[in-house]
Order: sequence, then structure tokens, then C-alpha cells
Amino acid sequence: MIRPGARAVFLDRDGVLNQALISDGKPGAPRTVDEFVIPPDRAACLEELKRRGFALIVVTNQPDVARGRQSIAVIEEMHRRLQAALPVDDVLVCFHDEADNCQCRKPRPGLLIEAQRKYDLDLSRSFLIGDRWKDVDAGNAAGCRTVFIDYNYNERGPSTEPSVRVSSLRGAVEWISSREMNKEDLLPHSISDFKVKLFADGADKAAMLELYRNPWIKGFTTNPTLMRAAGIRDYEAFALDILSSISDRPISFEVFADDPDEMYQQALEIAGWGENVYVKIPITNTKGESTLGVARELSRGGVKLNITALLALDQVRDTANALDGGAPACVSVFAGRIADTGRDPVPVMKAAAELVHQHPGMELIWASPRELFNVIQADSIDCDIITATPDVLKKLSLLGKDLLEYSRETVQMYYDDARKSGFTLTGKARSQVAIGPVRGVK
Ligand SMILES: [Mg+2]
Repeated sequence: MIRPGARAVFLDRDGVLNQALISDGKPGAPRTVDEFVIPPDRAACLEELKRRGFALIVVTNQPDVARGRQSIAVIEEMHRRLQAALPVDDVLVCFHDEADNCQCRKPRPGLLIEAQRKYDLDLSRSFLIGDRWKDVDAGNAAGCRTVFIDYNYNERGPSTEPSVRVSSLRGAVEWISSREMNKEDLLPHSISDFKVKLFADGADKAAMLELYRNPWIKGFTTNPTLMRAAGIRDYEAFALDILSSISDRPISFEVFADDPDEMYQQALEIAGWGENVYVKIPITNTKGESTLGVARELSRGGVKLNITALLALDQVRDTANALDGGAPACVSVFAGRIADTGRDPVPVMKAAAELVHQHPGMELIWASPRELFNVIQADSIDCDIITATPDVLKKLSLLGKDLLEYSRETVQMYYDDARKSGFTLTGKARSQVAIGPVRGVK
């Protein structure tokens, strides 16, 4: 199973996974199944890459087929053995020779492009490992980072520089792993890298409609405090107005009653506003009494719910159990408020995700994020949804930004602001502290 947007390690076959047949210092492909030998260290190497989440795709030129020296049946038997011995996801083969002028024969990147299309891979964050110039050139042409296992064959080198030269597959895996340790390659570089769904939190109509134009905003949430801040007086009119524009993505509206019966009636009314409406029910009323009895009844009756203001894992467990088997529901845990109390929200949210995911149709929301990094944290623990306020959403444009450039821009900001303020130094206080030798003073 390769998830869309995954990163791959493309592996050449002969000399990388199985022993190449060396003649005159040049590598060749094994001719028989018996000559197809996979050294014992290969499985551990590939398992390490697999553990790091890479799709493993073999890309190999087998021109002996076009040259009439090899049969496809023998190659296919080799690949059955290869896939039985090693955790590779797919084996893509070019059977052509130079004269065929195909797109798939390395050094052309056709096989890598084919894999990208088949599995929706992210080539810019993928690697190629090969032992010949054609491998490196194909990997570079596809926009991957390339690892050249240099066995000192008696042949030309790559015409484009590999990212690194190593002397074995183990060395290649260690280099890729060391980059992972740096985390640079784990950084998401675009919104499409996220599995977690971004919901916009707000109550300002113009801002909501603006965000609605972005396909990566998958839903909306509101709450009475945001509405008050936006100056909304007529709750129902506001909601119906928004729903006349946003009818195809989930949107949550909250009950505001404190009494359970009144809460129930409000929930039914709000649910009737639209198919895409989730009714937000706070986990307790203002007296601290659980609302899960009301929630259970509504959920069983087909009302989609967003249970909100949870902060403790016991609340998550009780909510998930109460809504089990009911209508689709969201469990909204206020990770930011947990962090505000000095507690790390990540282990709490991870445990919450495990609890919620035991129940089909139920999703976990990372609510009240404080910074953009929370989106990355939510994504990494398989949280389903993160609700983000506009100030967090606008930082999405900074994803993966070069830190040195960002540093320079920060200094530019200080400089510009100082200039705009017309700051000057008068020199009046210069002699108050004795200063040592300075530039130009002997
Ligand atoms: Mg090779």
C-alpha cells in the first residue's frame, strides 16, 4: 500500500540488489535464475528504508530481451524471487535497447515518471540508488536526489553530479537515514503533503467565503465567542446566510443552551439547517454536568455532532463510547488549551486518536492550535482534522521556507521599522560607560 504523495527510493537492480556479473570490469545482468543471487545484507537495508516510510520501486534496464539474448519469462521469474526476498513494492522494467529510442530506458527518467503517475509519488523528496551513470542521470532528470554506489567499474561516470557517492548499498541507506535524522526531508513543503484535513475556524462571513475558495480548506467551525467578536447579533440569520454559500463542506454550529432539554431542542433545530451541518455540543454544561446523555440520543437519531471543549482523555473515551454506532461525529480536543497549562498536547492527542479511531465514522479534531507547527504535529499523529484560525492559516505560506532567508527578512523588518520611526542616536550619552578599543581608535 503506497499512500498518495509518498516518497520513494528508486533502486537499480543489477549490482544494487543482486550481484552483477562482472566482465572486463563492467557489470552485466545475470543470464539465468541460478545466477540471480541476492546477497544476505540486502533485506535489512531495504527494511530500514521501508521503516522510514519510503515506497521501494525497482527500476531496471534489461536490454538483453531486445537483443534476443534473454526471455521475459526468465526475468519475470527473477523478479518473483526478488519480491519474495525483499520488501519492494514494484519492479518496473525497460526491455528495450538503445536503438528503440524509448522513454523508459535509463538515462531517461521514463520508469520513474511512470511510477510517479501510478502511485502519485513525490519525486522531489524521493531518492534513487544506482551503480551506473545511467541510473544517476535518470534520477537527476526526474528531480530526485541520487546516490551513486561507485564500484569503480571500467566505464564512464555520471554526466550529472550525484547527491552523494558511496561504496555500498549499506552506505546509501545510511546516507539517506542521516538526512532523515536532520528532519529536513521530513518537512512538509506544501499543503498537499498533509493527511490531516484543515478546517477554518471563524465567524467573519467575508473571511469564510474567501477561505471557501481554497480547495484545501475542507470544512468550517464556528463558536459563540467568535461570533460575538465578529459582532453577530442574529445567530440563525448568520448561519443560514453562510449555509446559502457553503453547502458542500462540513460546518459546525454550536448550541448555546445550558439546560439539557433545551440543548436537545436547539440541536434538532440547528441540524435542520442543512445536510452539511454538524451540531456542536459542549462536553459539559456550565455546571460541569455531562451532556453525553443528550449527545447519545441525538447521535442515535441521526444528528451529526461535534462534541467540543474536551481537554481530558477520560472525556474522549466517554464521548467515543457514547456516540458509538450513531451518526458521523467529531470529537474536538482543545490541544492548545492543554498546552496553555504547561502540558505537552502531543501524547494526549495521540492517545485520543487511538481511542476515537476504534469507532467507525468518528473523527478527532485538534482544536485551538496556537502555531503552524501544530498542523505538522496533528498530521504526524494521524489526527483527522485541525481547526485553524486565520492567523495560523496565513503562516502556511512559510512551510519549508529557507531559514537563512527568513532570518534576513526578519532583520529587514527591524531595519524598515526603525527607519519608519525615524530613530536616531544623538551621542549625548556616549561617555557614560567606559568602552574598550573600537574601530579606528588607536
Ligand atoms: Mg546496476
